[in-house]
Amino acid sequence: MSVCKLCGRRAAVYLPYANLRLCRSHFEEYFVRRIRRTIEKYKMVRRGEKVLVAVSGGKDSVVLLSVLSRIAGDLGISLHGLTIDLGIHGYSDMYVSVAREAYELAGVEYTILRLEDEYGFSIDEVAAQRRRVCAHCGLVKRYVFNRFAWEKGFDAIATGHNLDDLAAAALSSIMRGDPESAYRIKPVLPGGVKLVRRIRPLAFTREKDIKLYACLKSLPIVRGRCPHSRGETLSSFKRAINMLEDMHPSLKYSFARTLYERLPGVVAGDYRLCARCGMPSSGDICGFCRLRERVLGGKGVER
Ligand code: SF4
Ligand code: ZN
Ligand code: ZN
Repeated sequence: MSVCKLCGRRAAVYLPYANLRLCRSHFEEYFVRRIRRTIEKYKMVRRGEKVLVAVSGGKDSVVLLSVLSRIAGDLGISLHGLTIDLGIHGYSDMYVSVAREAYELAGVEYTILRLEDEYGFSIDEVAAQRRRVCAHCGLVKRYVFNRFAWEKGFDAIATGHNLDDLAAAALSSIMRGDPESAYRIKPVLPGGVKLVRRIRPLAFTREKDIKLYACLKSLPIVRGRCPHSRGETLSSFKRAINMLEDMHPSLKYSFARTLYERLPGVVAGDYRLCARCGMPSSGDICGFCRLRERVLGGKGVER
């Protein structure tokens, strides 16, 4: 029988990258400590700050919420959750109810924001009119989270991007010869005027460990799939990195750390404020306002 390296009880998990066998409670401790160290190492938050947690009901965001709620007191921060009801038939109701359950379990106050109520359109309507729905949906989510956080005075937005997501995104940008976009994999994206800092406390946490933690803690997680999903765009890069990691167990971690720490520091960059909504934009009118106008126009609604 394999035993926990720390207490000698029966091991529940084996972590090949650390060559460590742990029992259930020592795994949980190890898992939470790793996330806390990432937060501290990258100075993601300061004491007294208000952090908005973006919760979609998927495993990453639910685990993020659960862990942050455990350590928020020690870090001296306060938490509030935000879930966007995107208006996706047969899917939104399901993940909104999972998110509610996760908030109640974590004891964190939250807001459910209905895109249709707030901005007059849904992602189903975007999908009916436009291609590349996930790219538009991503734009909508980033905009809504940032605007909500800015208007309500939050200091940071925490998202559930994990080590596998970020390593795969980095590999994909390098392979596509687009190093500028690699800044998006950083654990912290700085804020600016009307732009709230974004933090990724799971930047050094593997997807497998997240699944394991969610399972051991019996956390509520969305089981279904969004009807607009075309499968994960980064899945081939994730598979490639996982294959290499089978041969070199700490490769994913060192690859990501090299990128996080050696890439030039990124400042929020040049941007202006949108002539329609006043939020950050690369042009006169931001991508969100342009999308919204097109979708509302397609519905025959005057803006
Ligand atoms: Fe949005 Fe695409 Fe995710 Fe569905 S799969 S929630 S459309 S990003
Ligand atoms: Zn143990
Ligand atoms: Zn705008």
